[in-house]
Amino acid sequence: VNTNKKQTGLVITRYGQRLLVKANSGELYQCTARRNIDLSIAGDQVIFQITQSNQGIVTALIKRHNQLHRAHKLIAANIDQLWLVAAIEPHYQFELIDRYLVVAENAKLPINIVVNKIDLASDMKKIKFDFSMYENIGYSVNYLSVKKQININQLKTQLNKKSNIFLGQSGVGKSSLINELIPNLNLGVNEISAKSKLGKHTTTNTILYNIPSGGDLIDSPGIREFQLDELINQEILNGFKEFKPLINACKFRNCAHIFEPKCAIKLAVKSGKIHQKRYQSYLTLVSS
Ligand code: GDP
Ligand code: ZN
Repeated sequence: VNTNKKQTGLVITRYGQRLLVKANSGELYQCTARRNIDLSIAGDQVIFQITQSNQGIVTALIKRHNQLHRAHKLIAANIDQLWLVAAIEPHYQFELIDRYLVVAENAKLPINIVVNKIDLASDMKKIKFDFSMYENIGYSVNYLSVKKQININQLKTQLNKKSNIFLGQSGVGKSSLINELIPNLNLGVNEISAKSKLGKHTTTNTILYNIPSGGDLIDSPGIREFQLDELINQEILNGFKEFKPLINACKFRNCAHIFEPKCAIKLAVKSGKIHQKRYQSYLTLVSS
């Protein structure tokens, strides 16, 4: 083993101070990190050096292009696509979707929307009309049934070559979808635990998985049960991306877009340029 060569690697998971790192060769290394290195997480790119067979030391963390936190705890890094999963049952709520969008926009994650369980839909036209509100502001919307295998292959194509994460309220079908994408997921976890001797606890940590049809998935029980943190008003405003190009036109520089006169946002709602439902969500979020 050439122990001197520094190389880049991808963090698969972290357990305590130990990292499981995948080299470009595909080989896995159990690593420790130099003390001055920031804690890394699944999805991180690092520089590491092999110390002995399948072991190494991480000497640097490569700058992340984004990261996701929950309750100030880092849970994933370098996400290429966040899939916001909604469903027909439990029935989607715009306010909840908008809250997730605010979180993802603030984390600078590219976002797509998935509407699952369309096998339960009685009026698909109405549903597509509802979600056209999101398409109009630039989010793509995928309609899916994991149960009836509708549009799964189309989704797989979009996951390919990217690092993906699924977020959404409990019961929308995230676990079903992930099991569909990675049928031997549990085997995978055991395999990683065995190889890395990181122990069973690894299963509660964030892990980066390979999707057999292409692409990566960053997942953990915490991500599946992602609870929304309280939001501050500036984050809320940042999260409504169609508001941003207009706010400079408000009369008052510190306009909160609620009671102020000559507010460009309120005018845009009136003219139909901003959807009434989105503005309603905004008002509910800033006043809660
Ligand atoms: P999670 O909480 O988001 O991980 O949701 P689960 O994957 O646990 O799914 C919740 C329930 O929805 C389970 O009973 C699944 O079988 C069911 N489910 C998942 N996908 C579909 C679907 O496409 N159609 C229908 N009818 N049920 C689904
Ligand atoms: Zn305003």
